[in-house]
Amino acid sequence: MRLLRYGPRGQEQPALLDKNGRMRALAGVLPDINPAALAPAELARLAALVPESLPLVPDGVRLGSCVGGVGNIICIGLNYSDHAAEAGLKVPSQPIVFSKHTAALAGPDDPIVLGPGAEKTDWEVELAVVIGSPCWHVAAHEALDFVAGYCLFNDVSERAWQMEMEGQWIKGKSYYSFAPAGPWLVTRDEVPDPQALDLWLEVNDRRMQTGSTRTMIFGVAEIVAYLSRFMALQPGDLIATGTPPGVGMGHKPPQFLRAGDSVRLGGSGLGEQRQRVLAFEPDMAQSWRRGEFPRA
Ligand code: ZN
Repeated sequence: MRLLRYGPRGQEQPALLDKNGRMRALAGVLPDINPAALAPAELARLAALVPESLPLVPDGVRLGSCVGGVGNIICIGLNYSDHAAEAGLKVPSQPIVFSKHTAALAGPDDPIVLGPGAEKTDWEVELAVVIGSPCWHVAAHEALDFVAGYCLFNDVSERAWQMEMEGQWIKGKSYYSFAPAGPWLVTRDEVPDPQALDLWLEVNDRRMQTGSTRTMIFGVAEIVAYLSRFMALQPGDLIATGTPPGVGMGHKPPQFLRAGDSVRLGGSGLGEQRQRVLAFEPDMAQSWRRGEFPRA
């Protein structure tokens, strides 16, 4: 099953894709694709629906983050050995864990906004794991049972704020628009092996990242089990599992996003995202407070 959310920001409605790739509305079936909807019994209820019996969603609607009500975004750093090398950092002996503020969540095609003075904003295509059942002290061999599904994720990062300032990475990872998730959540039953997914990313039609989850240092099951030792994972928690090589800071010379750039990324069975890059303008914060969001 492929589950989506569509509509204006903050007012997204649930939907699923039918076998022809058309969006079918789930309004009236459940309120949202949120933590409650990710429980195994709820997913089974959705899987029993006949998609063709549900109303079609009109073409051209905005897609939101594929999961709403996300409580936590937990990220794994340097989880591909070739990416660790390009970052000039050694391969970690244990997963590097950091977090990203949930307000950075965005729809898959929402614009990326560069912060004022931000000159080192970078891309990171990733596989994200969405937890479906409460998960505390689980072993790797059972960890995937607690996963609702997977989605495409761009872990957008302002490197100067991440690495050239004191303190934690979260400052460079949490800016408005820095966490596009989707287009859809693909349920676990449709991903028999999360370690066999291709990931790619282009900037202005030029291929920057080409990778496979096969080369992760710590696999998905290992990551979920590892995290569950330190925190009781909750339904709706989203885990970004790290990026393959080809990020901007790994280029010689480094290359970063500029206003006007276009970013396109995708993964096996995960769909595609397309983002235009915008410069921050002071009136954006004013309009944001009124519930109006930057558009590409
Ligand atoms: Zn990342």
